[in-house]
Amino acid sequence: MNILVINAGSSSLKYQLLNPETQQVLAKGLCERIGIDGKFTYKPEGKEAIKEADVAMPTHNEAIKAVLDALVDSKNGVIGSMKEIDAVGHRVVHGGEKFAKSVLITNEVMAAIEECNPLAPLHNPANIIGIKACQALMPSTPMVAVFDTAFHQTMPAAAYMYALPYEYYENDKVRRYGFHGTSHKYVTQRAAAMLGKPIEELKLISCHLGNGSSIAAVDGGKSVDTSMGFTPLAGLPMGTRCGDIDAGILQYLMNKYSMDINQMLNVLNKKSGVEGLSCVSSDFRDLENAAAEGNEKAGLAQKKFAYEVKKFVGAYAAAMGGADAIIFTAGVGENDKVVRAMVCEGLEYMGVELDATSNDVRGKEAVISASSSKVKVLLIPTNEELMIAIDTAALAK
Ligand code: AMP
Repeated sequence: MNILVINAGSSSLKYQLLNPETQQVLAKGLCERIGIDGKFTYKPEGKEAIKEADVAMPTHNEAIKAVLDALVDSKNGVIGSMKEIDAVGHRVVHGGEKFAKSVLITNEVMAAIEECNPLAPLHNPANIIGIKACQALMPSTPMVAVFDTAFHQTMPAAAYMYALPYEYYENDKVRRYGFHGTSHKYVTQRAAAMLGKPIEELKLISCHLGNGSSIAAVDGGKSVDTSMGFTPLAGLPMGTRCGDIDAGILQYLMNKYSMDINQMLNVLNKKSGVEGLSCVSSDFRDLENAAAEGNEKAGLAQKKFAYEVKKFVGAYAAAMGGADAIIFTAGVGENDKVVRAMVCEGLEYMGVELDATSNDVRGKEAVISASSSKVKVLLIPTNEELMIAIDTAALAK
């Protein structure tokens, strides 16, 4: 079964054609600068990536058309015809409280996704454009929506409610939703396979540490808490996002510097995090190099990040009454042994013993704790596309 996975942004579109049963990726790539000057990247399995500039892509429709043309191209295509695409899986950022699972897309589902637009105004409208563009070109192919928020819909009210007047929840849907759900779901399922135990018997702490970062407490395969909140600004400090801060800071800075709320949010979303703190970069590779050269702010940004991750690990062990494993995934989690070591240092009291030699690994599944470690520490590369394809195949059947 071949599944086309689409992740549509406002001016970009990532795609992958894969077989979820064999996990074979037939082709993948990226359309960028849609509506501007159209850049197209296409990488068929086993061949060099093909890159084209100035491709006419005024809308997402032309972008999807370029993807389909490339997939069936007589020279570099990977399938004979579009009929070999059995279903399309769309990443949708926000499913609100309506979607606790992936769903087959119908007119009613489209309307319900549109109702979630106010909760993710930068992302959901772009996801919807991607779905409509595919529907226009492949009207008889089943389409599935896979939501970033769905996995976290199992959180109990004590975890998802904010201590705000209740009416803001009732009338305005203000609550913790959480994001990166597809990634947390995938790595926790892989963790159960690596540990050789049913997921129902495991308490897992999943650390998705990338440019955007979140942690999830997953008890028996169900998310019971997560660090991102109503928006992806909450929780850990990130590349350029501040994470949790005292809400009172907003009033103080806005008054002092005559900023309006949009200017303030721009600072919190785009100028904060490890970049804001280090005055160096949002990229952990740059922080490590700068810290090694004696840049104190870069060192502080790294320490602050690892400290906050460690605090969430402790909090989630408390929330679940223990932990069987801590999982590291995404760009930083998969590649940065220094950050992983900083997070685990001092957690010996709760049974976490990182093994320095095993931790010297990048980008592949590995147990990186000592054999005597009561709590296992796992490195698991995330694979959101595969998770989307698996859900899509199951629903399309
Ligand atoms: P993601 O959002 O999951 O794609 O992660 C991207 C981030 O991963 C980058 O901004 C870097 O901070 C981090 N990263 C990628 N490669 C490495 C590496 N080799 N060492 C440390 N951090 C890395």
